[in-house]
Amino acid sequence: MIICKTKTLLSAFINKYLKQHTTIGFVPTMGALHEGHIALVKESKRKSEITVASIFVNPTQFNDISDFEKYPITIETDIELLEKAGCDILFLPSVQEIYEKGIHNVKHYDLDYLEEILEGKYRKGHFQGVCNVVENLLKMVQPNYLFLGQKDYQQCMVINRLIQLMNWQDIISLIYVPTVRENNGLAMSSRNKRLTENEKDNATIIFKSLNYIKENYMHQSFHNLIETCKQNLLNNGFHKIDYICICNANSLQIVDSYNENTKMVALIAAFIGEVRLIDNMLLN
Ligand code: AMP
Repeated sequence: MIICKTKTLLSAFINKYLKQHTTIGFVPTMGALHEGHIALVKESKRKSEITVASIFVNPTQFNDISDFEKYPITIETDIELLEKAGCDILFLPSVQEIYEKGIHNVKHYDLDYLEEILEGKYRKGHFQGVCNVVENLLKMVQPNYLFLGQKDYQQCMVINRLIQLMNWQDIISLIYVPTVRENNGLAMSSRNKRLTENEKDNATIIFKSLNYIKENYMHQSFHNLIETCKQNLLNNGFHKIDYICICNANSLQIVDSYNENTKMVALIAAFIGEVRLIDNMLLN
């Protein structure tokens, strides 16, 4: 695996591939890699001739500075995992490489209601930061395919919107990869590294709650379902719930009651200890 720390070096390789019409798959990450990230790399290997992964803990997408400061960094193991998965290039830029004009001089995107709801509502400015880093990375990597995890459901929608705003929809195909889970159902996440063993066990209540919604949404009122799940989370070590909701899977607008024609997704964001976890599940 080639490791590029500068965009100049990365461009030299990318330009060579572009001349040869080699298809490029791209997997952007913030590191502290786990099997979820590796599933994206493997999907990229299946679809593209060259796979580029990036590791960059993007300062502009953290609404909470302590979350940024405590973000786990495990670069040596990350490199080993990527090499083992057959990743071709790892882009490992500094903040200066990504934000030439500095992190306070960033672009604003019209994300419409997408940044007012769910993650957008609870993490002000988060998706603006995501769009800034993803636009910059995409300009550097110039991929044919961009691989994203469904674990970050709303982020997939935001990046889809970014692609439309940039008019890149004919150049870059988005590929959404299903969430990879631990055996007990807990969605893999870099933030899980900050949980105690006890918290990790308790955190499975998120997956159990999503399953509970999936099994019962046809028979119970959505209000009751959500209230039961809230209580279950609070009884299992979660102390703050940002949201538990059932939404239209295409628009993320809240759905109040069952309608067989609406594709739905249940989404949860809640705090256990100091760690905020998110997860989601498609219902139908
Ligand atoms: P992150 O490093 O958290 O920014 O994630 C980088 C990419 O990996 C994003 O597209 C995530 O949605 C994806 N990802 C994170 N966790 C998982 C998981 N458990 N399963 C599948 N994809 C994931």
